[in-house]
Parts: sequence; structure tokens; C-alpha cells
Amino acid sequence: MPKSKSRSSITPAPPSGDTPLRIIPLGGVGEIGKNMYVIEYGDDIVVIDCGLMFPDEEMFGIDLVIPDISYLKERRENVKAFLITHAHEDHVGGLPYILPEFPGVPVYASTLARGLLGVKVKEHKLHKNPLLALEPGDELQIGPFTAVPFRVGHSIPDAMGIALRTPVGTIVHTGDFKFDHTPVDGKLSDFAILARLGEEGVLCLLSDSTRAESPGYTPSERTVGEAFREIMEPLDGRVIVATFASNIARIQQVLDAAATFDRKVAVIGRSMEQNFRIATDLGYLKYDPANIISKDKIGGIEDGKLVVATTGSQGEPMSGLARMANRDHRFVEIQSGDTVIVSASPIPGNEEYVARTIDNLFKAGANVVYHAIRHAHVSGHASQEELKLMLGLTRPKHFIPIHGEFRMQVQHGRLAIETGVLPENVFIIENGMPIEFSADGSARRGAPVTAGYVFVDGLSVGEVGEVVLRDRRALANDGIFMVVVTVDKQTGTIIGRPEVITRGFVHLNEQDPLMEEAVTRVIASIENPGDHISEIALLKSQIKDGVSRYLYEQTKRRPMVFPVVVEV
Ligand SMILES: [Zn+2]
Ligand SMILES: [Zn+2]
Repeated sequence: MPKSKSRSSITPAPPSGDTPLRIIPLGGVGEIGKNMYVIEYGDDIVVIDCGLMFPDEEMFGIDLVIPDISYLKERRENVKAFLITHAHEDHVGGLPYILPEFPGVPVYASTLARGLLGVKVKEHKLHKNPLLALEPGDELQIGPFTAVPFRVGHSIPDAMGIALRTPVGTIVHTGDFKFDHTPVDGKLSDFAILARLGEEGVLCLLSDSTRAESPGYTPSERTVGEAFREIMEPLDGRVIVATFASNIARIQQVLDAAATFDRKVAVIGRSMEQNFRIATDLGYLKYDPANIISKDKIGGIEDGKLVVATTGSQGEPMSGLARMANRDHRFVEIQSGDTVIVSASPIPGNEEYVARTIDNLFKAGANVVYHAIRHAHVSGHASQEELKLMLGLTRPKHFIPIHGEFRMQVQHGRLAIETGVLPENVFIIENGMPIEFSADGSARRGAPVTAGYVFVDGLSVGEVGEVVLRDRRALANDGIFMVVVTVDKQTGTIIGRPEVITRGFVHLNEQDPLMEEAVTRVIASIENPGDHISEIALLKSQIKDGVSRYLYEQTKRRPMVFPVVVEV
């Protein structure tokens, strides 16, 4: 079992023979989401992060996507610990579905992350996995690994990167990061640890590529507070700020700006209320409790003395902001004179939702301050100059850009080469592609392992696969065309006329020539069924082929043709 140890007392075991160190992303490269990195040496595995991804619009009916963990299931006994960099869903959202496969394996996380994870533990009954402390600056021995977490800036407090000393060399995983020199909580990134690791020698750096395409520096979170004040100062109406429920620093700045102008704050939205409570209890939010009012007291506050903090910055249809915009919220109805600050940029894929919500807010009479008009938001991810600084501090021999879509990884790889990493030591990889490091410090690509999507749909995890999704796409695109044929079991002849039922194809009645002809085709296709009508499967495929071809000729569409043969 892994146990905590004080710093500096640990000497990793010497490398034994040719055992390579393997780094395998099971999620998080080639995509933004479901981060999961496997670090394997001999019979020991630690897993960094265990995230989820939200489905794209092609994944009909899917609630969530988590990594395929077949590789870990085959090595269940070897998995020694899950190390969590921070509590964003793309880093912890997979835990409720994946931990039950690894009873007893501990999860290590920082204080705030443990606080937020506590809710998941309770909701999903994950009590079989101890949730243990891992704080920036600790050193933790896990089998042949020594984990050294270090503090980084990000859009959630207590975010960490994790260095792992291994028998083959040190690898550094940055987690999601930016270098904020004036963070809202005053806690700076651990430059000293990074520089020390660089001095000792870093075998491989895995670094956040989210903003590898953006030149310069990401502005400090503090600039958002200034923007809030400038926006609020001249206003005498209500102010509604929408942001991510997990962005505790942002919520702190809403509280601070409100206090400047003597405004009371109401926090609305299930996830935001929950996070607000946890962050307050753990000391991550500082405010005068007298300035907070409960949502049912909003009516009693003068317009010019109120700020509402809520969720829905991504236009999520069920969120606080979308409901307010649709005049469907119990506590806040948008009125003229309201100012809404959307303090976020749309995540790729959410642009439509965000745009619709902003339109509705304007229609309801509010003034809206949003990303395209004025920046009341900064990213939590490092831009190019900060990425170069990370590379410069750690001076890695090898480099694997992570947490990004493929083009972002490519750009990040170029930055690494600019800072002196040899081009042959930069690995732009996809999920399931191992990189293996030998004791002599060389690296190579290993044979791919299983990696991919596991879909969560309602209560089912992994039961909906690509085949089901293909059917759902076909149904959504062109509908279904069902043909019911009754045949005499003895003679093999058709009894009555085949019946056609369609949904989502075209609205037809039975007299429509298209339907008539389709039925005729069905009859023709089974006119000569051979001497053995018992070959139902063959009959079905004949009907399917004949009808599909005909419908495509006539309509250029491919509904799902579904033959049903009833024998009597
Ligand atoms: Zn994050
Ligand atoms: Zn992330």
C-alpha cells in the first residue's frame, strides 16, 4: 500500500534490468476531455486523473463519455493509486464509473478537490476507495514511484501538476495550468520545485496544450475583477453574473466587486450553491456573511443593491441563466435595467447554445456583456510564452503535449523544439499509444493498447456502443421504414398486403404512390422466395435490399428499413 512520507527521504529503487517505464494516455490527447494518463513500471501502475467528456452532437442520447479502461482492467492488481491534479470534470468526472472496478485503490487529491469529490463519493457510494490528502510540496511514495505535486495557477484553486520520480527518470505532468503572478488567492505557482526538477533532470514533460495556439501570456485572473468593477460602477439596475460553478476564484471576485458597491450577492444554481458551500467551509472563499442573501429574499432587495451569481455561462439549457432568459426561473425574472455578465468563453461546440441564450436575454430586456463585446473572462490555461517558460524551467529531454486537440499538440510540439527539445524527442500521440523509456534514457513508441470511448447512457455504462450510435444517427437522419409481412408457414405465400409503418421519414398515407410502389416491391422481392421460405433471414434481407434501393432512387434518402416477417 502506498503511504505518505516526508520530503527528501526517498531514493527510488535502482532500475532493474530492461524494465521500461511506460506512459499511456487513455484519454486527453486528440481531444479536450476525459483526461487519463497511465504511468507503468513493471508491476506497478499509477493513474493521473480520471475524467469525462461531454458528448458531441453526433452522440445521440449519450449523457457522458468516459475512457475505455480495458488496459487497466487486465492489470487490475497493478493499479496502486489514482492521483488527481484538480477537480474539473474533465479530470475527475470518470471516477464514479471507473473506481468501482478498483476497490480499495486510493485516490489522492488536494483539499478543495477532496471537498468537491466528497459529493461524488456520497452520491455514487464510492466508500471502498480511500480519499487521501496530496498537497503541493508533499512527497508520496507509491511502489517504485515518488509523486511530487506542485502548485500551478488554473481556474480552480488548489490545482497541481505532478512530478513522478521513477527508477528510469523523472516525469513531470503539468496538469491544467497557467502562470498567474497575481492570483486571486495569493498562492503562486511552485516555480522553485519546477526549477529544482529541471536541475535534477527531467526525462519527460507532459504539458497542457489547450492554448498552444495563442501567442503571448494569458492575463491574470485578477484582471477579471477589475472588469467586474468597471462594468458595475455606473449601474443602478441588477447585475447577474454567469460563470462556471467550479471557478471559485471568479466567484470570489464577484463577491469582492459586489462588496465594493455595497451590493448583496445571491448564489443560484444547484452546482454553484453546492460549490459555494464547500469552498466556504474549507476556507477558499472570503466574504462577510451579511452580504450574502438567500435566493428567496431577492425580491426584498433594491435593484441597484443586488448581484446574482449563477451558472449557465455555456448556455446549458437547464441552467440558471437559460431559465432566466426564458422567463422560466423561480427566483429571477429578467427585466429591463438588468445587466448580465457572461463571464466565460463558449467552449467549442457550445457556441450555438450561448448565442441563443444571449439573444433571449436581450429579448427579455437585459443588457448583456459577453465575450465578443468585452472580456469579463480570462482563460485558466497557459498561452505560448508560459508554455515556453514551463519548458524552460523543466528542460525535459522528451516532450509529450497533452490536453489538446491534435493541432494544438502539434503547435505545442513546435514550441518545445524552439526551446531546445530535439525534434525526435517530441511525441505527438493519440489515446492508447504508449511511449516507453529505457534505463539509458531513450524513448520509443510502443504497440498501441485499447483506448476509446465508453458511453454512459442513463444507468448503462458501456452498453451503448458504436453500432447503437450508428442506428441512432440513421434514425435521426432519415427515420425508420418498417415493413410487416405475414407469410403462410406451410406454403410460403404472402397473406394479405404487407403493411408499412414509417416514423421520421416522410409523412405519407397508405394511398401515396411511393408507399404503393414500395409495397409492390416488397411483394416482388418475395414472389420467388425459393423453395424454403423458412429462411427468414434471407427473406428479410431481400425485403431490406429491395425497399432500401427503391426508396433511395425515389427520395435520395436512406431511412432504416426494418423488415418484420410474421409466420402463421
Ligand atoms: Zn481544468
Ligand atoms: Zn482540463
